[in-house]
Amino acid sequence: MFKAELMERAAQFRSASEDHTRNVEGCPALVLNADYTPLSYYPLSLWPWQTAIKAVFLDRVDIVASYDREVHSPSLDMKIPSVIALRQYVKQNEFPPFTRFNVFLRDRFQCQYCGTQSATASNLTFDHVTPRRLGGKTTWENIVASCAPCNMKKGGRTPKQAQMHIGMRPIRPTSWQLQQYGKKFPPNYMHETWRDWLYWDIELEA
Ligand SMILES: [Zn+2]
Repeated sequence: MFKAELMERAAQFRSASEDHTRNVEGCPALVLNADYTPLSYYPLSLWPWQTAIKAVFLDRVDIVASYDREVHSPSLDMKIPSVIALRQYVKQNEFPPFTRFNVFLRDRFQCQYCGTQSATASNLTFDHVTPRRLGGKTTWENIVASCAPCNMKKGGRTPKQAQMHIGMRPIRPTSWQLQQYGKKFPPNYMHETWRDWLYWDIELEA
C-alpha cells in the first residue's frame, strides 16, 4: 500500500512543475530513499511539509535535517523537516514509463537533429523518426525530441530522405540512466541542507 502511495505522489509531483511547495516559503522536504539517495533527481523528489510531518508520525521516515522554522500544536513543537529518509527502501522499476517528460529527459531537452537545447519543454516537439504514414510507431525507439523548425523541415520523411542527421539513436532508457540524466538539471531552488544529498555534475566539474 505504502509503495503505491509513494508512486502516486511521485507521479503527482512529476506533473506539478509550478507547485507552490517548490520554494522556500513552502518548506518542502527533500525525500531520500532508504539508501539516502534522492527518490528522484528531476524533478527533485519533494514533499510538502505537512506530508513530511505526517510520515514522521507514522514512523515511515527518519528526519535527516530540519528547517529553523517550527510548527506548533497543543501537544508539541517541532522543527519542520528539510530532509527525510524513507525507512523502507523503495525499489524503482527497471524501466521508466513512456511519457512526454521522460522522452524529453532522455534527449536532455535537446533537439536531436540540430542540437538546440530548450530551457522549457514548450519549445520542443516530438518527431516520429520513421513517420507514422510509413508505419512508424509511437515508441521509445521511434520518438525523439525535435525543435519545431526541424520537425517542419523533416515533414513526413525519414531522416535519410530529409538528409537530416539524428544525434543519438533513440533507445528505451533504464530508470537508472534517466536518473543520471536528471542530475544534469539542478533545481531552481535548493535549501542548504539538501546539498549534501545531491551530487550535481555541474558542481563536480566546477
Ligand atoms: Zn532542431
